[in-house]
Amino acid sequence: MDQVSVARLHVRVEGIVQGVGFRPFVHALAAEHRLAGFVGNDTGGVFVEIEGAGPRLAAFVADLRRRAPALAQVERVTTEPVVPTGQPGFVIVTSVTGAGRTALISPDTATCPDCLAELSDPADRRHGYPFTNCTNCGPRFTIVTDVPYDRRATTMAAFPLCPDCAAEYADPTNRRFHAEPVCCPACGPTLRLVTAGGDPVPGPPLDGAVRWLRDGRVVALKGLGGYHLAVRADDEQAVATLRARKHREEKPFAVMAADLPAARALVDVAPAAVPVLTGARRPVVLLPRRPDAPVAASVAPDNRDLGVMLPYTPLHQLLLGRLGMPIVLTSGNVSDEPIVHRDDDARARLAGIADGFLTHDRRIHVRADDSVVRVFRGRELPVRRSRGYVPAPVTVPWRFDRPVLACGAELKNTFCLAKGRRAFLSHHIGDLENYETLRAFTDGIEHFGRLFDIRPQVVAHDLHPEYLSTKYALRREGIELVGVQHHHAHIAACLADNGEPGPVLGVAFDGLGYGSDGTLWGGELLVADLAGFQRVGHLDAVPLPGGPAAIREPWRMAAAYLDALYGDALPDLPVLRRHERRWPAVVALARSGLNSPRTSSVGRLFDAVSALLDLRDHVSYEGQAAIALEQRADRDERGGYRVEASGPVPLADVGRQLVGHVVDDLLAGVDPGRIAARFHYGLADAVVRAAAAARDSTGLTSVALSGGVFQNVLLLDRVVSGLEATGFRPLVHSRVPPNDAGISLGQAVVAAARHAAG
Ligand SMILES: [Zn+2]
Ligand SMILES: [Zn+2]
Repeated sequence: MDQVSVARLHVRVEGIVQGVGFRPFVHALAAEHRLAGFVGNDTGGVFVEIEGAGPRLAAFVADLRRRAPALAQVERVTTEPVVPTGQPGFVIVTSVTGAGRTALISPDTATCPDCLAELSDPADRRHGYPFTNCTNCGPRFTIVTDVPYDRRATTMAAFPLCPDCAAEYADPTNRRFHAEPVCCPACGPTLRLVTAGGDPVPGPPLDGAVRWLRDGRVVALKGLGGYHLAVRADDEQAVATLRARKHREEKPFAVMAADLPAARALVDVAPAAVPVLTGARRPVVLLPRRPDAPVAASVAPDNRDLGVMLPYTPLHQLLLGRLGMPIVLTSGNVSDEPIVHRDDDARARLAGIADGFLTHDRRIHVRADDSVVRVFRGRELPVRRSRGYVPAPVTVPWRFDRPVLACGAELKNTFCLAKGRRAFLSHHIGDLENYETLRAFTDGIEHFGRLFDIRPQVVAHDLHPEYLSTKYALRREGIELVGVQHHHAHIAACLADNGEPGPVLGVAFDGLGYGSDGTLWGGELLVADLAGFQRVGHLDAVPLPGGPAAIREPWRMAAAYLDALYGDALPDLPVLRRHERRWPAVVALARSGLNSPRTSSVGRLFDAVSALLDLRDHVSYEGQAAIALEQRADRDERGGYRVEASGPVPLADVGRQLVGHVVDDLLAGVDPGRIAARFHYGLADAVVRAAAAARDSTGLTSVALSGGVFQNVLLLDRVVSGLEATGFRPLVHSRVPPNDAGISLGQAVVAAARHAAG
C-alpha cells in the first residue's frame, strides 16, 4: 500500500441505524473495501473510524448510504479527518452509553424472507418457531423499555441466550449479530393455549388454536402490539358472535390473509397497493372487496371496501399457513377501550369475548394497534399511523428550535414530541374519553420523552377547553403554552407532511373543531402558513340540535338543514316520517339555540345527507354516516350538483344548496346511489371554485387538503383532479393521517413557527 495516500476518517451515521444490522453491514463493507478501523453504537447513532487509501475511503462512505440495510433510514452521514493509527483489522466495539440520546428506535417489522425460509425448513433449528427474528425483522418499538437499544432494555431481557443464539449474536458475519430480540426454541418465549378460564389446553398450542378457529370459535391472539380477537372470516355465525360479544361494535373488522394470492381472492389489489400490502410495515390496507370474496357479511357491513393485511409475525404466518383460510383480526378490547396488551388485563377483560387464548410469555411494553391506510394515486393515504410506522420520525425541512410537546386532539388522539428536524408522532392512543386511554396518553408522553431524550420547553394544545389533551397541557406548570386552532393544525400537518412552509390555501373539512371565535368549525377555507392563518371562507353555520346527541343521531342534522331550507313548508320525505314524533321538538331546539351550538362542519353535512338517503339515522362511531354515504355512491355516475356562487364568503351557501338538490332528486325518485355520487361531486366542484375565487384575491396556487373528510377518496379524487385541471398544485397527506390523528404534528410545527416568527 502506498503509505502517502493513507488517510483515516471519523464517520458519524445518524437516523434509524440501531437494531437494523448496521454494524455487521459496516463490518462487511470495511472488509470488502479492505479498510481498517472500528464501528460502534452510541446514543447518537453509529460511529465509525476507517483507515486506508483515499479512493477506497470515499467509496466506503458512499456505500454507507447507498447500500444500507433494508430497515435502516440513514438521515445524515458526516465525516471528519483524523490522524491515521496504522492499526490493522476492523472490529466492532462496545456500545457507548451516556447523556444526549438521539439514536432512533426502529418500528416493529414484518418477518423477513430469510426468517420465513428458516421457519419452513424442517432442518433448521427454528423450524416452526413462532418468535423467530433477526436484525432485519421482528419486534422493536413494542418491546423497548429504555435506551440505548440493547437486549437489557427490552422485554427480551427475561430470556437469557442459549449458547447457539449467543454465538450468532456475537458473530459479526451473522445476520443475527446484535439482533437484540434474537431467540430460539431452546431459550426464547413459548406459545401457550389456554381456555377462557385460564386452564392450559394439552397438545401443541398452534394445532389447538387452528382447531378452535375452524370450529368457529373466538380466539384471543397475542400479537406484536396487543391482543387481537380472531375468528374465521367466512363464518357468519362466528363473526356475528364476535360482534355481539364486543358490544355496540359496528366498525368494520380487518381480515388477515395468508399471502398475496389469498388477499387477491378477497379484494382487488391494484399494482400500487402491492408494495403497501407486502412491505415491511404491513398495515391494514382498505381495498375494494371482490363480489365473490369468501367473507361473511357482518365482517364489514354496508362497506364495499375490506381492510386486508398479511401476516407480520412468524406466529401469524404459521397460524394462517395451517388454517388455509382468512381470519378476522380485530383489536382485543371492549367497544372503545384501547387494545389490551397486558396478560392479566387480557384474561380479565377478554375472557367474556374469547373462547380461549393463544398467548406467550414475551411481554409487550407499549401497545400498538394495527396501522390502516388507503392507497390514493399510487401513494399511501394513512388513516391510522401506528404499528410498523411508529416511532420512526416524520422529518421536516426546518428546525424545531426548542423541544416541543404537542398534545393532539380528543378523538383518534396521538401526541407528538419534536426537536431538531424530527417530529416523533405517537402510536394511536384512541379517543381520550376514559381512564385507560388517558393513562396511555400520559404514560406514552413520558416513555417517548425518555426514549428520544426530549424535555419539552413548549407545549402546544387545541383551543377546545373541554378536550382532555388541552386540560393535560394546561396542568403542566412552568412551561410555555401555545394554543393552536384545530383547522390551522390540520393544514399545518398537511404542510409538514409535504415538507412545505406555505403560505397556501387550506381546505380543512372535518367533524368538529373549536374555532377561534368559540363556535364549532369544520368546513373551512383558510389562507395559512405554519405561523398563522386567516379564515377566508366557510360553510354557513347550522344548529347542532341537542349538541352531542346530534353527532350520534345524523337525522337531527337532516332536521337542522331542512329547517334552514324550508322552514315550516317541509317536503314529504322518508326521514321526516321515520322521526315524525320527535321532529317538532328537535326543530324547536334548533331554532331556540338552546343546547344547539352552530357549526360550519362538512362532516355534519355528510350526516344530514346520509340520513336523508336513509343510510344512517344513528351512528356508533365518528364518521360512520359519512363512510356510508361514500360507500353508497354509484361509481357510474359522474355528474355533480351545481352550486351557484352567492355572496362574498366562499363556500357559504354550499351546504344548503347541496341539500336542496338532494331533496329535489329524492322527490323525483332518483336512485340514492346516484344522489350520493352527485352530492360528492357537487361538493368537490364547489371546493375547486372556492379555491379559484381565493386565488384571484391572494395569488396563491397551492391548496392543502386536510381534515377527516379527506379520507373519503371519492371526494378527494374529484377535488384533486379539479384543482389540477384549474392550474392548482394540490397537497395531500401521505405520511400522517388527514384526520385528527395528524393534529399533533400540525400543533408542533405551528408552535415552532410562532416562536421563530418571534
Ligand atoms: Zn429476519
Ligand atoms: Zn437460543
